[in-house]
Amino acid sequence: MTIAAFRNEPFTAFTVEANRQAMEQALKQVASELGRSYPLIINGEKIVTEKQVVSINPGNKDEVIGHLSQADAELAQRAIAVADATFQTWQYVDPEVRAGYLFKAAAVMRRRKFEYSAWLVYEVGKNWGEADADVAEAIDFLEFYGREMIRLSGPQPLTVLEGEDNRLTYIPLGVGVVIPPWNFPLAIMAGMTAAAVVAGNTVVLKPASTSPVIAAKFVELMEEVGLPAGVINFIPGSGAEIGDLIVDHPRTRFVSFTGSRDVGLRINERISRTQPGQIWIKRLIAEMGGKDGIVVDNSAPVEEAATAIVQSAFGFQGQKCSAGSRAIIHADVYDAVVELVIEKTKALTVGTAVENVAIGPVIDQNAYEKILQYVEIGKAEGRLVAGGSIAEGNGYYIQPTVFADVAPRARIMQEEIFGPVLALCKADSFEEAIAIFNDTEYGLTGAVFSAKREHLEYARERMHCGNLYFNRKCTGALVGVHPFGGFNMSGTDSKAGGKDYLLLFTQAKLVSEKY
Ligand code: GLU
Repeated sequence: MTIAAFRNEPFTAFTVEANRQAMEQALKQVASELGRSYPLIINGEKIVTEKQVVSINPGNKDEVIGHLSQADAELAQRAIAVADATFQTWQYVDPEVRAGYLFKAAAVMRRRKFEYSAWLVYEVGKNWGEADADVAEAIDFLEFYGREMIRLSGPQPLTVLEGEDNRLTYIPLGVGVVIPPWNFPLAIMAGMTAAAVVAGNTVVLKPASTSPVIAAKFVELMEEVGLPAGVINFIPGSGAEIGDLIVDHPRTRFVSFTGSRDVGLRINERISRTQPGQIWIKRLIAEMGGKDGIVVDNSAPVEEAATAIVQSAFGFQGQKCSAGSRAIIHADVYDAVVELVIEKTKALTVGTAVENVAIGPVIDQNAYEKILQYVEIGKAEGRLVAGGSIAEGNGYYIQPTVFADVAPRARIMQEEIFGPVLALCKADSFEEAIAIFNDTEYGLTGAVFSAKREHLEYARERMHCGNLYFNRKCTGALVGVHPFGGFNMSGTDSKAGGKDYLLLFTQAKLVSEKY
């Protein structure tokens, strides 16, 4: 197999007329496909259940994206059993062949880029740019992990001992339960699934309940490129009904989870209890929340800093683990930065993702209520300087909201809100700003704006987060360029899109032969 070096999928410029038209066309096409039914897929068999759950457009609550069959306990058990049986053959498939499915899927996805973007616009309310970045990242994960598996399947360096042939190989683990998030419903879902599968594991995929149609589209794609039946088993279902069951199952070998801190901790606790018949220690690969922030010192260019603060806080309505929901600004430039942040936030338009405005809806009723509660908390904890209420529309619209003069230990400086709410905090020195940044139980992303080399070097050592950026926004990690994952309550620092990621889905075996 000849494979070009990995390079990131370019983003689409929607200022180019042809691209804009292609996107309009895809939106129309997908609109005509809304409301269909999607079965479970277990061992390649499409299973339609009586119980169906609808996925709706969060920006237009009357629009049904699709109806999803729901796995019950018996079907979830069956999915695990099938994954377990399929592992007996799939683990021995040549890694290059396994990688080939990912490369082919990437090629098809690239060809149908606008179509996938359109699904993201409708099902989770991403504007065009955010949707396009999600699809590009999904393509990147497929291309990157395919190459990584080929690299890992080659000879691994060992110290030579005369008279022996020593070889180290990375073998798969077994059945993986994949529980992806809804906020990167194509990229992260596809990345988590593809990594597990290309490493030789089989998967039970339980999609997020607010983005199951996009996951179904990905599973359809993997089927279309010829992935054998039983390698990915697709079981939408309620967390309460099947979540614990698939996590607890004695044949589950690992759980790959991206989502909230509370669910991640719950999974961590559950997998630590050994079930009757279980013969391994289960592994957890978890990417959880963040309370990310941007530090601005008194040498920073205020205009650039304010732009990055607003982009980091409000991209996809702040619904990213990487979202910069705090900014800690040196007193000398505080007023100037706050003013610019207010101006830039007020310039953001709220509306439907289909119309491609800056700020779309938040994901669902629960999120809407939770975020609005935090807006009320913020009113007591800081000075409301932008937004602060719901916005018009037949969906879950909330104005991008900014609170100034918030104290470091305030709840809106500590708790992950996962919505368009930004807290601004003043610091008297750079060192104090870094200390405030670090004073959180999370450690995912951060950024520093400074023109001083010594400040950047101080931050490099002291800021405790998995992805630290200098003089740029704290969202938008690129596969291969910025391996993504964080510390403490942000998860297991699994570094998606990095060279270590696939190792998490494998175990190393050493074979030594005496001559
Ligand atoms: N990787 C994304 C970024 O860098 C965030 C992923 C997430 O929100 O889970 O913005």
